[in-house]
Amino acid sequence: MNFSKPNLNIGVIGSGFMGKTHVYGFAIADRVFDLPYKLNLISIADVNSKVANSAAKKLGFQKSTANWMNLINDKQLDLISITAPNSLHKDIAISALKANKHVYCEKPLAPTLNETQEMVEASKRTNKKTQVGFNYLSNPMFSTAKEIISSGDLGEITSFRGIHAEDYMSDPKSPYTWRHEPVGGGVLADLGSHILATAEYLLGPIKQVMGDCTTVIKKRKTSDNKSKKIKIDDISRCFIRFKSGASGSIEANWLATGCKMKHDFEIYGTKGSIKFSQERLNELYFFSANDKKNVQGFRKIEAGPANKPYDRFCVAPGHQLGFNELKAIEISNFVKSINNEIPEPFNFSSGHRIQKLVDTIHRSSRQKSWLRV
Ligand code: NAD
Repeated sequence: MNFSKPNLNIGVIGSGFMGKTHVYGFAIADRVFDLPYKLNLISIADVNSKVANSAAKKLGFQKSTANWMNLINDKQLDLISITAPNSLHKDIAISALKANKHVYCEKPLAPTLNETQEMVEASKRTNKKTQVGFNYLSNPMFSTAKEIISSGDLGEITSFRGIHAEDYMSDPKSPYTWRHEPVGGGVLADLGSHILATAEYLLGPIKQVMGDCTTVIKKRKTSDNKSKKIKIDDISRCFIRFKSGASGSIEANWLATGCKMKHDFEIYGTKGSIKFSQERLNELYFFSANDKKNVQGFRKIEAGPANKPYDRFCVAPGHQLGFNELKAIEISNFVKSINNEIPEPFNFSSGHRIQKLVDTIHRSSRQKSWLRV
C-alpha cells in the first residue's frame, strides 16, 4: 500500500500559547483527517535561540532560529504560521506571501485597518492561500446552530446577544504586556474580534454599530517596575444592527473576574431560540415555540458523530471535543483549501472585515454615535 502524499512543510513563528496550539492542531489534523498533504513541522522561530531551540526540541521541529526572516527565506517551507504578537503580523505575513508561502495568521489579523488592507492586497497578488485563526467558528455546534437558523426553525431572527469575557487582565497588579500596547489592539481586537466573527458567521453582515469602549485599569507596572499608562480599552460593548434587520449587542471584557472562557451567544427568533456557552462547548440549547406547551423548554443538543467532523475524533457521542480540537478542524479546512477542495474558510479579506468592525466600533465610541460599517 502506498501512503505517500505530497509534503506541506510548515514553519511556525512564536512558541507561546498559540504556537503550541498550532503545533497540536497540525499534528492532530494530519492524523485524523484525510488531508491531501502530509503535514511536516520543520522550523520554529522565537525571540532568541534558547527559547526557539527549546521549543523545537519539545514540540518536534527539525530546525529553530531567533530570526523569523530565516523561515521566510527557507525554500523548504510551504506554509508559515504566525503566532507572534499582533504588531508583527503584517510584516511577517507580507514577507511570507512574497516568498510564495501560504499564511496562517492568528487573530486579530493586524492592529490597524491600513495594515489589514495591505495584507489583503498582498494576498491578492499571489495564488497562495491565507487563513486567520478564528477557531471558535470551527466548533461543530456552530455549524449545527447555523443549520437550525437556516432551516427556519427559529422563524425570523429578531436578536443576538454575544459576549467574549475572560479574566486574565482582572488583577490590576498583573504586569503590562504586549497586549496593552496600542498595537496590541485592546480587548475589542483581542476578544471582541472573536464574538464579532461569530455574530456575522451566524447571522450575516452587521451594518451599523454604536460602541462604548472603556479603560478601567489606567496604569500597569512593566517588568522593570515602571508605571505605564494604558491607552487601550479593557471593557467594550456595542449595540449592533444586522443587514437582515435583527438587532443585538456584543461585549468584550478581559476584566471579568471568575470568567475563564465565556464565548457565549443567545439568538432569539419568532419561533424559537438557541443559546451556547464556550465553557460547555459540546452543548447547544434549542427552544422551539412549536413544541407542545406542556413539554416546552430548552433541549440540550450534545455533540456527537452526527455533528461533523466530531466523528473524526471520536465514535461515541457526548465524549466531548476541546479547544485544541477546534484548531485541528480549522487547520484541516485550511489545508483542504490549499488543495482547492473548498474555498478558504476565513481568509485575509474576512480578517480585514473583522478589523473594519473593530475600527468602526472604536470610532463610534469616540464619537458617541451610531456608525455604518
Ligand atoms: P504569547 O505571548 O503566549 O506568545 C507569543 C510568542 O511569540 C512568544 O513565544 C514570544 O516569545 C514570541 N515572539 C515575540 N516576538 C517574536 C519575534 N520577533 N519573533 C519570533 N517570535 C516572537 O502570545 P499568544 O497568546 O500565543 O498570542 C499570540 C497570537 O495569537 C496573538 O496574535 C493573539 O491575539 C493570538 N491568540 C489567538 C487565540 C485564539 O483563540 N485564536 C488565543 C490566544 C492568542
